[in-house]
Amino acid sequence: MNNDLANTIRSKVDIVDIIGERIPLTARGKNFFGVCPFHDDSNPSMSVSREKQIYTCFSCHATGNVYTFLMNYEHIEFREALKYLGERVGIDTGNIHIAKKVTKYDKLYEAYNFSLKYFQNNLNSNVGKIAKAYLLDRKIDDSLIKEFEIGLSLESRDDLTKLLTNKEYDLVTLNRIGLSSDNHDIYNDRIMFPLYDVSGKVVGFSGRIYKDSGQNKYLNTKETDIFKKGELLYHYHIAKEECRIKKSVIVMEGFMDVIRASSIGIKNTIALMGTALTKEQINLIKRLSNNIILCLDGDDPGQHATLNIGNMLFDLGIEVKVVKLPNPDDPDSFILKNGKDRFIGLIDSAINFSDYKMQSLRENVDFRSDEEKANYINRVVEETSKLDDPIRREVVLKRLAKEFDIGYNTLEMRINSLLKDEKKHEAIFIPKKVVEKKDKYSKAFEQIIYLMLNNDWVITQVEREHLIFPTEVMRQITSEIIYYYKKYGNINVADFYTYVQEKENILTFLNKILAGNYIETTSKDELFLYFKVVREYSLTQEIKRLTNLMKKEVDPLEQAKIGEKIRKLRLGDS
Ligand code: ATP
Ligand code: MN
Repeated sequence: MNNDLANTIRSKVDIVDIIGERIPLTARGKNFFGVCPFHDDSNPSMSVSREKQIYTCFSCHATGNVYTFLMNYEHIEFREALKYLGERVGIDTGNIHIAKKVTKYDKLYEAYNFSLKYFQNNLNSNVGKIAKAYLLDRKIDDSLIKEFEIGLSLESRDDLTKLLTNKEYDLVTLNRIGLSSDNHDIYNDRIMFPLYDVSGKVVGFSGRIYKDSGQNKYLNTKETDIFKKGELLYHYHIAKEECRIKKSVIVMEGFMDVIRASSIGIKNTIALMGTALTKEQINLIKRLSNNIILCLDGDDPGQHATLNIGNMLFDLGIEVKVVKLPNPDDPDSFILKNGKDRFIGLIDSAINFSDYKMQSLRENVDFRSDEEKANYINRVVEETSKLDDPIRREVVLKRLAKEFDIGYNTLEMRINSLLKDEKKHEAIFIPKKVVEKKDKYSKAFEQIIYLMLNNDWVITQVEREHLIFPTEVMRQITSEIIYYYKKYGNINVADFYTYVQEKENILTFLNKILAGNYIETTSKDELFLYFKVVREYSLTQEIKRLTNLMKKEVDPLEQAKIGEKIRKLRLGDS
């Protein structure tokens, strides 16, 4: 891998800009702080250092440089992060060859890519005529077919299975990875929509019937090592870029909706594909934008899902916007009927989830009944008490008082008592300072390594003193630091990250010490105090080893010899 190039590119970008474009950062002292995207949180526990060009999360210990941030945040590989940043600073990375990581799932991805091409080919050949006509009838034209890589599985029971077994895939594997079942093709005579993981790799399919076959409308790939339904969202890899430009993400139910929206140029969309939203998916959506717009189907299940998802996000402190489609439209049918401009109009006039909820409380209430009316007013006050903004609370209550001709004081009293209850339950947030209990030895070792990463002269000292570190990973990281320093003539943490990024155990250790509370600079005298602790440790370890040896020794003469050694070591120590 070309480290020099990676370092040059890195030195031309500011990590604060790159992270700041993705999550809001606030300057505090020397550093910038934001909500860490790598774990569930709403507190600003991630700090970004402009000086060091690294980020550190004090809560989950995610740490790294601009490359690791992009790789983890965008779910891309190193070479993609390099290419992206290279383009930004005008350095061509085109002819740089970086070895692709071989993963144990490569064969799986290959099988899916092969199937994708096979299905696409079917649709575009003679056998695909009827399916093509169906798609055209649904206003899915050739360019959309190409864009979404839509294909067709054939009626024959085992064409794909045969092709893949000819390619050295055995039947057991094909059954396991969800392309065959009982040694036959899983998908028969369905229009095939590839499903992608968050980085854009094809990991599954959804097959739709297109004739009156009486079968389930959609058939999806089963869960496999690479297809985890709860960890992906349809169209995510495309939406990533678009959401940044449009500064919002539109959440839809089905991939047909996403495809339709794309046809009118709206591409900051993702589809849930009928799953209950998982924690991972919420985190994924949160990363796309702060401005989340729910645009689910207009039918009852769609409205129900809107309330569910909206509440879930509201409880996490995220207020989403809601687009209410006429029942029973979904975005697909709405756009087909009403066109682009009306749909964009709807998106632009999306309402706050709280307001949507109030509106939906109104539905089916018989306002002639005093009981139902009172019930309704109580529910509205209850919902209002959940709003953080006191001004918004007052606005809602005033409107309510006016509409139903009720004293504002009555409503205020009610909400105040609700707010008081709420306070009692509210957990007080105490920033968890993760103080790991560590013995003085490992602390000293880690402190020295941290100093090496920040001070060239410490590296020279460590080398000169031939310090022996007790664990394998500490020995590895110190020898890498020394090697790096010799090669580049100086060290900085951000570039060292790039250098060790393939060495997982070193990286883990590096993250741990960077998230720890260690001093960055020191004096020579102080450094030698740490060295002393290290030597003391080596000595006690050696004495321990010899004592054990002595215990096991049966020859009294040998035993005495070892005892003498131990005595000498102890003397040398004092
Ligand atoms: P179409 O317009 O072709 O009927 P749709 O987008 O309206 O499709 P919905 O019935 O609204 O589809 O379903 C939304 C999403 O839920 C689909 O995109 C699909 O991912 C998922 N889904 C629907 N039915 C099934 C099923 N029987 N099995 C698995 N997933 C399904
Ligand atoms: Mn639908």
